[in-house]
Amino acid sequence: MKRDIEKGIILENVNLKRFTSWGIGGNAEFFYWPRDLADLQNFLQTHPKQPVTFLGLGSNTLVSDLGVAGTVIITQGALKEMTLVDPHTVRAEAGVSCAQVARFAAKNNLVKGEFLAGIPGTVGGALYMNAGAFGGETWEYVSSVETLNSQGQIQKRMPEEFSVGYRFCKGLAEGEWFVAGYFTFEPGDGKASLEGIKHLLETRAQTQPTGEPSCGSVFRNPPDNFAAKLIQEAGLKGFTIGGAQISPKHANFIINVNEASAQDILDVVAHIQTTVKEKFAIDLVPEMKFIGRR
Ligand SMILES: Cc1cc2nc3c(=O)[nH]c(=O)nc-3n(C[C@H](O)[C@H](O)[C@H](O)COP(=O)(O)OP(=O)(O)OC[C@H]3O[C@@H](n4cnc5c(N)ncnc54)[C@H](O)[C@@H]3O)c2cc1C
Repeated sequence: MKRDIEKGIILENVNLKRFTSWGIGGNAEFFYWPRDLADLQNFLQTHPKQPVTFLGLGSNTLVSDLGVAGTVIITQGALKEMTLVDPHTVRAEAGVSCAQVARFAAKNNLVKGEFLAGIPGTVGGALYMNAGAFGGETWEYVSSVETLNSQGQIQKRMPEEFSVGYRFCKGLAEGEWFVAGYFTFEPGDGKASLEGIKHLLETRAQTQPTGEPSCGSVFRNPPDNFAAKLIQEAGLKGFTIGGAQISPKHANFIINVNEASAQDILDVVAHIQTTVKEKFAIDLVPEMKFIGRR
């Protein structure tokens, strides 16, 4: 392990399995774990241009078996500042977990952020995906964001500058990433909010294989339908290729049951798409993101 001058950690050929919730994938050509935001700015200013990929908690990402060219920058545990900037607004850096935001808001008697507690990703990932659950979506509460470009410059940007919808957010330029979000919540009963969080987590654990290696829902729900229902009705629960299995508990989850490769996951995805198309004439579109060499 080599400490870079900026104090972040830069390494070559780091396996990304342990940086994704699926526990799958090849090596990052270069891997950078910044110390903090200033350190990350400095890194981008002083290092020659190369492809850069941001990774939060890797809970919605399939990493190629062939690895990722360029530098993978890890935000979890690095961009970790969170403060109350006014009585209703939380500023959370991109590497803060969604669960921390939900709890921090509740502890400051702010409500409506409870849904974030069940999303096992970071603020950066939630902004990029417009993550949502239990009727709430990330961008409903965003009052502004800070982005960083490949020259290391930070810019404050407003929600109107982005096009946001079901599990997507468009509007970042090439070589621009989220480094913080400002979330404005309603004042309310923080104790009830913490109780609500507990209840949401219990409900999730009953209906989803939350303790097993997955990326959550693999497919977006088609209009007026549910991907899990279609996959289940196609008789695919438990279907397995290599180490990748369609969860017997929730059909829209693919579990890494035995050292699955990214190719195993892609093969299961393709099989689901073909089968559901044949049976119901519906195209299922993946929600997860694939990074790396093809
Ligand atoms: C058990 C389980 C349950 C889940 N339940 C839900 C759910 O209810 N609702 C839901 O919406 N999702 C759910 N997910 C999926 C996932 O948690 C969310 O999509 C989450 O927002 C991803 O955050 P992350 O930090 O893990 O992102 P990552 O997987 O690290 O990255 C996702 C994408 O965002 C990009 N990205 C990451 N950080 C940044 C940044 N700072 N700036 C720009 N781009 C960035 C990455 O390059 C990648 O393309 C679930 C996943 C699991 C494993």
